[in-house]
Amino acid sequence: MDLVDPHGRTVRDLRISVTDRCNLRCRYCMPAEGMDWLARSDLLTYEEIERVARVCVERFGFTGIRITGGEPTVRAHLPVLVEKLAALGTDLSLTTNGATLRLLAGDLRAAGLRRINISLDSLRPEAFFAITRRHALEQVLDGIDAAVDAGFSPVKINCVLIRGVNDGEIVDFAAFGRERGVTMRFIEFMPLDADDGWAPATVVPGAEVVAAIDAVYPLEPFEVRGSAPAERFRYRDGAGEIGVIASVTQSFCGSCDRVRLTADGMFRNCLFAVKETDLRSILRSGGSDDDLAAAVAADVGGKWAGHSIGKVNFIRPDRSMSQIGG
Ligand code: SAM
Ligand code: SF4
Repeated sequence: MDLVDPHGRTVRDLRISVTDRCNLRCRYCMPAEGMDWLARSDLLTYEEIERVARVCVERFGFTGIRITGGEPTVRAHLPVLVEKLAALGTDLSLTTNGATLRLLAGDLRAAGLRRINISLDSLRPEAFFAITRRHALEQVLDGIDAAVDAGFSPVKINCVLIRGVNDGEIVDFAAFGRERGVTMRFIEFMPLDADDGWAPATVVPGAEVVAAIDAVYPLEPFEVRGSAPAERFRYRDGAGEIGVIASVTQSFCGSCDRVRLTADGMFRNCLFAVKETDLRSILRSGGSDDDLAAAVAADVGGKWAGHSIGKVNFIRPDRSMSQIGG
C-alpha cells in the first residue's frame, strides 16, 4: 500500500540518522563544543533500525533509504547495518563527511552500499578549518579518493555554500569535480545550524552557482527532477555534471517524498517538523509491526505542504541538523 500524505505526495524515501555524534563540528550544523550527545542506550540498535526500515519497505513500498547522522561512520560496525539494510532491496545510500572513508570505503562497498555522498565545503585548508573547526581537509580528500577507488560511482560531493565564507570557491569546486570525476552538488544553507547564524543574506542562491560555473564551463540542464531535490546540469563538453539543491530559494516541498528517523528513534515527516512520533517506545514495549506501521502512517498524515523559511510563520525546529539527520 502506498503511503500518501494529505497533499497527495507518495512517501517513499527514509533517511535514517544512526548517531548524533560527529568527528567534525561544522558551523552550519553543530556548535563548536558539540551537543549533549544522546546516551548509548537511547540510540536505536541496528536490529531496531532494520525493523523500522523493513516495515516502511514491506508495508508502504519505500524505494530509497539513506544512512546519515551526525556522522554515521563514527558508529561502530556500520557495515553490519549496511548489510541489513541492503538486504531490503531499496536504493541504499550513505551521507558522510568522508574523514574516515579511507578505512571504511571497501567494507561499506562489500556490505552492499552502492551510492555515497561526501561533504566537502572548502578546498582551502584555512577555510575548511573555519567551517568544520577541524584540520581534516587532507583526510576528507583522501576519503573521496578512497570512495572512488572502492568503486562507488558516481561519488557525489555535497557542498553547503555560505555567503562570504566559501562562495568564492564555486568555480574551483567545479574544476575539482571535473578533474576527479565526481559530481558536485551545491546545497543552499538552511536555518538548522545550532549557532543560529543563518540569515537570508547568508544563502547563496542555486541560480547564482549555475551562472558562475556556466560562465567558465558551459552547462545545460537535463532530466526532469521528479521527487529528487537536485536540479541537474551537465557540462556541454561531456566532463560530467553538477547538482543544485535550492531548498531555500526554490523549495521542492511540492514533490517531497521523504521522511526521517532520528538516532533515538523519533519519526519525523519533515526536516522542519516540530512534532515527532516516538517509535522507540513502540519498539521497546513489545509493539507489533502493525503498531509501527500505524504510527508511521499517522505521522505522515500530519505532513505539511512545505516549509516557510524566510516567512514570518517559520518555526525553527528545536533540533539542529546533526540531531535530525541531514
Ligand atoms: N556527517 C555527514 C556529512 O556531513 O555529510 C552526514 C550528516 S550531515 C548533517 C548531512 C548533510 O547535511 C551534509 O551534506 C551537510 O553539509 C548538510 N547540512 C548540515 N547542516 C546544514 C544546513 N544548516 N543547511 C544545509 N545543509 C546542511
Ligand atoms: Fe558533522 Fe556532518 Fe554536521 Fe559537519 S555536517 S558537523 S560533518 S554531522
